[in-house]
Amino acid sequence: MLRNDLLDQWDRENFFHPSTHLAQHARGETPNRIVSGGKGVFIEDRDGNRLLDAFAGLYCVNVGYGRPEIAEAIAEQAKELAYYHAYVGHGTEASITLAKMVLERAPQGMSKVYFGLGGSDANETNVKLTWYYNNILGRPEKKKIISRWRGYHGSGLVTGSLTGLELFHKKFDLPLDRILHTEAPYYFRRPDAAMSEADFVAHCVAELEALIAREGADTIAAFIGEPVLGTGGIVPPPQGYWQAIQAVLEKHDILLIADEVVTGFGRLGTMMGSDHYGMKPDIVTIAKGLTSAYAPLSGSIIGDRVWTVLEQGTDENGPIGHGWTYSAHPIGAAAGVANLKLIDSLGLVENAAETGAYFNAAMSDALADHSHVGEVRGEGMLAAVEFMDDKDKRTFFDPSKKVGPAVSAALLKRGVIARAMPQGDILGFAPPLCLTPAEADEIVSKTAEAVAEVLG
Ligand code: PMP
Repeated sequence: MLRNDLLDQWDRENFFHPSTHLAQHARGETPNRIVSGGKGVFIEDRDGNRLLDAFAGLYCVNVGYGRPEIAEAIAEQAKELAYYHAYVGHGTEASITLAKMVLERAPQGMSKVYFGLGGSDANETNVKLTWYYNNILGRPEKKKIISRWRGYHGSGLVTGSLTGLELFHKKFDLPLDRILHTEAPYYFRRPDAAMSEADFVAHCVAELEALIAREGADTIAAFIGEPVLGTGGIVPPPQGYWQAIQAVLEKHDILLIADEVVTGFGRLGTMMGSDHYGMKPDIVTIAKGLTSAYAPLSGSIIGDRVWTVLEQGTDENGPIGHGWTYSAHPIGAAAGVANLKLIDSLGLVENAAETGAYFNAAMSDALADHSHVGEVRGEGMLAAVEFMDDKDKRTFFDPSKKVGPAVSAALLKRGVIARAMPQGDILGFAPPLCLTPAEADEIVSKTAEAVAEVLG
């Protein structure tokens, strides 16, 4: 086995890490954790630490670490047939079976699933398909996509543009044109403290209507949103938000893309987040929970309305000019089949509802009254604690104080991984869906200690 200090040296010399302060890392100022194992909700590193991963990697290891059922399915597939492409009608038992299993779990009215590699490429596919759709329908002007500020949809050219977080635009010349942003459904940060939830929903609707009026409905192809804002701060929408937004979209013939990369396959305590909020999407993005990240795989689930037009398009123009070498990769598909079976047999959707509710209630009991905690919020197996400088005056900490990262570091010292979300002092939790009440208690008590250490 290679020595840790040698790996550390090679890492800093050779490895371009995503979402990392590159200069600090090269200078050796950022930690370099070499992760070596995992079991259940715990990971282990090469320094001998055992850490409770309350963020499931990047909210993706939904069944927990070290599941032999998935590892064996991957190994068997690799031995039998590691790869064949899915172009011109080719498939494998795994990819065909997974497509059927995904459709059985999808919201109503879905027709087919296209498989990609990760959430970003799936959303690239979705945007392209809305353009193709409108071209086939003879509406070449109807191409703009509306996303929300604080939405997260990936970090490619189009998807980084859809993402409504400054860090992902700055110095990358994003967003590209054709991509528009509207108000985030973030009631806690409403523009006027006196607004009720209903007033705030009306405000979001008015902002959307104004944007559509400004741009012209005949220039707008689709609206994309996560059922619950994830990376933008883990923010469940206010009551009635999705119904109100969908009414506007229907009126203007704008497609709805539900980005279920985080919420798909159980995280909110329902199979899909769309079911949770009564959303009727035209396209659904899935990734993370599809394989619990045991292998890279994503999907674009296409609804009947769009599918019919895609078929018509190929009758008129020949085969669809879209595809990846690794679309429906057999190893990813085998992991997906084993993963979805495990979610069912372990009752993980139900556990996300029950233990998730317990976890959220315990977090709220422990922290909601703290003088620097503005809000404890969550849904299913997602939770967030948002810090404030002064609750009465509704003022936030100066970002340079890095309060969120300090609490996250204090928690890590106690053996629990949570995520300091990228915009605002928000500590995010998205544990594996197999979390037990005892593990939930451990996360909550250590979070309370970490908050006390940093904020008194
Ligand atoms: N959509 C959402 C809602 C996400 O949370 C993410 C990743 N965090 C993505 C898309 C992009 O997925 P990936 O990082 O796999 O490209």
